Amino acid sequence: MISKLRIGHGYDIHRLKHGGGKLVVAGVVVSDQLAAVAHSDGDVVYHSIVDAILGAMGWGDIGEHFPDTDPQWRGAESVRFVNEVCARIKQEHFHVQSLDVTLLLQQPKIRPFKQQMLENVQSHFPKAIVNIKAGTNEGVDAVGRGEAIAAHAVALLAADT
Ligand SMILES: [Zn+2]
Repeated sequence: MISKLRIGHGYDIHRLKHGGGKLVVAGVVVSDQLAAVAHSDGDVVYHSIVDAILGAMGWGDIGEHFPDTDPQWRGAESVRFVNEVCARIKQEHFHVQSLDVTLLLQQPKIRPFKQQMLENVQSHFPKAIVNIKAGTNEGVDAVGRGEAIAAHAVALLAADT
């Protein structure tokens, strides 16, 4: 019998450019001094969540589903990818049961934005336990030097039954 539970992992990283723009994380603008280098808004939390869900379903990755070569997705707000993937799992009679995200970013401090991030993510997954952890990379590697922003996500999906 095929399991009614499915688990997936997502990872995303974007280079950061300094000197203006806006940095969007889980749909929240956290800086107007930094911006992610990306075709979309470069929202690493949403991208890693989408990849975790696609992974759980055995559906490949975000680049295959939302290619930046497709005018439909180029420059798209990442919330659209989340909405789309939620609609697709619903069609398959699955839902997200728990979602755990680790955001890695040296600057700015995420604490003031965390509640809004949590609420934004939770709004897409009413049946899920959602958790967001945020850390710096302790000054180590590209993330630690403030050159990049990254996120990991793990999603557990269950059949609606
Ligand atoms: Zn991304």
